[in-house]
Amino acid sequence: MNAAGCLSLRRQITVFGHLLAVLNLVSPSYSNSITITAIASNASHEIPVVKENGTDYLILPDLLQYLDIEWEWDYLHGIIHIHHRDHMVRVAEGVAGGLVDGNLVDFSASNIQRDNQFFVPVDFIPEILMSVGEGNFAWESDGYRILDLSGEVSGIAPGIHEQLVVVIDPGHGGEDNGMWLASGIWEKQVTFHLADRLASILRTRLGVSVEMTRSGDETVSIEQRKVVANASKADLFIGIHLGSDQDLAGNGFNIYVSGTAVTPDDPGSRLFYWEETPASVQAESLQHARGIGNALAETAPGTKWSIKQLNLKILKGLAIPGCIIELNEKMTFYGDLDLSRGAGLRRTSEALFDAIKISLIAKRSDE
Ligand SMILES: [Zn+2]
Repeated sequence: MNAAGCLSLRRQITVFGHLLAVLNLVSPSYSNSITITAIASNASHEIPVVKENGTDYLILPDLLQYLDIEWEWDYLHGIIHIHHRDHMVRVAEGVAGGLVDGNLVDFSASNIQRDNQFFVPVDFIPEILMSVGEGNFAWESDGYRILDLSGEVSGIAPGIHEQLVVVIDPGHGGEDNGMWLASGIWEKQVTFHLADRLASILRTRLGVSVEMTRSGDETVSIEQRKVVANASKADLFIGIHLGSDQDLAGNGFNIYVSGTAVTPDDPGSRLFYWEETPASVQAESLQHARGIGNALAETAPGTKWSIKQLNLKILKGLAIPGCIIELNEKMTFYGDLDLSRGAGLRRTSEALFDAIKISLIAKRSDE
């Protein structure tokens, strides 16, 4: 069947299916619903949940259609094929799970095709949607809420960001654990998870070339980190750290930029190569610190933040624009989830991504 034929058949089936869902399933066994909230537009949509043998099911075509995810329904064989962000997913009726890029993921109960409708256990959301969504969605299982964080990303003109290079420096690592956080985890672990996720979405959504100063739990000296940054000739260097209430007054964050500027016409002030920051680089760093800080604060309403010019060792001699973001370990972004774990970690990397994206694009449009 050609694509157009397939599409129209699918539409008919879906419309028919809606009627049946309303008549046969939703009214007698309607138990709940899943709220999908698009963060960018603040629009909400409800997907009904139906109970079957004690398991909560959702109507898969409804979910996919609303989230604008590409799918095809092979009704004859009882299989739905989903294509999203280079991922291939297949769910078949009678199977308690789905295939994601060829790997089987388990659900607590079997998928059901019935009355021209296709139902999957709600497990589909944490087990499959979250992994193929690559940070575009966050799931709150206790309230049955999906946060659609993708926003206006697709509205960015392609090409603007093609040559951008960003270096991300996850604070600490290896023998240097950083701070022991209130949530019972080392700072070095959280900074790495945040950096890794941020790198992945900068690459996939903005086409940015990202270099990391460490690729795992490794001990990396400050000098080594600066070598990576300066050798990259990147557009931006971002260091990620966490702080406690002692470092940061209240619920907020600091952005550090170099306080040492050297002007070419003032040779008397010249420092060692690694210790000088050209004035133009410092100005750009400040511009990014403001752009990122303002945008980041928007994702955490009521937050207090400041830019601090300090001669931090990592910033002295940085030859590219850069700043260090230090987040209070108690901060939350896009809601109230702990930033060090699970969905809170994903939201924090989304907030960092959104802020960096805005600053990078503002910078580009100035040029
Ligand atoms: Zn730190």
